[in-house]
Amino acid sequence: MATRLQLDTLARGTKGYEELRRRFFNERVPDIYPAEITSPKTTAEVVMAVKRAREHGWKIGIRSGGHSFFCNALKEGGLLVDTRNLNKTITFDDATKIAVVSPGHTVEAVTMYLQSIGRFFPAGHSRTVAIGGFLLAGGQGCFQRGWGYTADSWVEQLEVVTSDGEVVIANKKQNADLFWAAPGSGPGYFGIVTRIWIKTIPQRQLFDTTIIVDSTDIFKPLLRWVIETSRKVPKYGVDLFYCTFFADKDDPNGGHESASKRVFFAINETIFADSMEEATVLGSPWSVIPDEFKSCVVTTVPLVGRTWEELWDLQESFQPHGNGERWNVDSILVDPKISDDDLIDAVTPALYDLPSRLSSGTFCPIDYYPNETDQSLSLPQKAYVSTMCCWKDPKHDSTVDEWLLHTYTEADKVSCGIYVADLNVEHRKAKASFDVINVYISE
Ligand SMILES: Cc1cc2nc3c(=O)[nH]c(=O)nc-3n(C[C@H](O)[C@H](O)[C@H](O)COP(=O)(O)OP(=O)(O)OC[C@H]3O[C@@H](n4cnc5c(N)ncnc54)[C@H](O)[C@@H]3O)c2cc1C
Repeated sequence: MATRLQLDTLARGTKGYEELRRRFFNERVPDIYPAEITSPKTTAEVVMAVKRAREHGWKIGIRSGGHSFFCNALKEGGLLVDTRNLNKTITFDDATKIAVVSPGHTVEAVTMYLQSIGRFFPAGHSRTVAIGGFLLAGGQGCFQRGWGYTADSWVEQLEVVTSDGEVVIANKKQNADLFWAAPGSGPGYFGIVTRIWIKTIPQRQLFDTTIIVDSTDIFKPLLRWVIETSRKVPKYGVDLFYCTFFADKDDPNGGHESASKRVFFAINETIFADSMEEATVLGSPWSVIPDEFKSCVVTTVPLVGRTWEELWDLQESFQPHGNGERWNVDSILVDPKISDDDLIDAVTPALYDLPSRLSSGTFCPIDYYPNETDQSLSLPQKAYVSTMCCWKDPKHDSTVDEWLLHTYTEADKVSCGIYVADLNVEHRKAKASFDVINVYISE
């Protein structure tokens, strides 16, 4: 007699439910309570989860790494499908060089597995982000400036459980519409991704160099020089990451506001190359700092070989979590038609007037010009600008929210849209990779 598979779920009010509900990067988890949470281990269990939701008329929210700042996976009275334990074995085909991973695998798990076999895939910059949400957002992966968003050319096919509970394969030829929709739909995707086929290339060495400048009295001219210098940096094999933060960001006794009021500007270039000689050429545009900024340089870290762990640690120093950090985020994708002058004026408040001591601003040249016939992620963009607002005391929630809304409503004037991972439809309407529609798989 065939055994009937059981789906394990945690109902609201049972032991472990609240801990699992709150498993997000952001401490600021909204008061939204799914009826049940399930952590399927296999695609067959995901099918059972969809059928269970359909039987009850529940909406389904899907969580992989839980790094959506807005905890989008929570649906009131719905079903939360957590893919953390799903299809956990990574496989690699030596003939095609394609690996098959789970949406629940983290950047760290995939990168370390591939490194152990001498391969590379441009996952994101944070080790704890999961591949599922990262690829559906489009994926601002490592060394994106040369080869575009990761989902654009590094994903071969997907296994998806549809809203009917059917398991389908989606690629350029089969269920091509489901495949087209995935990169850039973010929380609007209308299926559960259960497996992802990713392309890989040979691993190379990692290098980086950083200059930290006290930008307090020179912010706009400094940003101009940085933007102009970016154009001299070759596009392939480099990441350009510029970040603003308060000088006393790491002060263990620091309060909500910065006491120093000094805004530091980090110029960081990460390089994927075969040798230090090659990396030196790629990093050379930063070797001459104009005289007018020299006295403001706080630290220079010359080009040095790096491990993934070191790069992830650096990222985490700007985006800490696990100690009560509350987050709100907004971003713009800069319209390619905008002049440097207009851009600098429009984004200075977002990068310079940070609303709390722990907040940081990010500017990344991207120069990405996708084609909407290839994928839903289709906004041409020359840069990504964001502010990651961080604070700890809930009493500051509304002040920070208001600052962010005002600042990005202004910055939006030079934008062609927003990175879908930063889109909070409750906060600000903005054009994402495509017109995000609230289609949930239970509908
Ligand atoms: C510290 C930090 C660093 C970041 N760094 C980067 C970066 O370097 N590059 C970058 O591009 N982005 C970055 N992001 C943004 C991040 O990639 C997106 O928020 C992404 O959506 C997170 O994916 P997740 O699976 O971890 O999050 P989740 O919150 O689990 O997922 C986000 C949304 O994606 C959908 N989703 C997730 N899994 C599935 C699935 N299996 N099937 C269908 N839908 C699914 C759900 O709607 C879910 O609400 C960062 C975010 C944080 C917090």
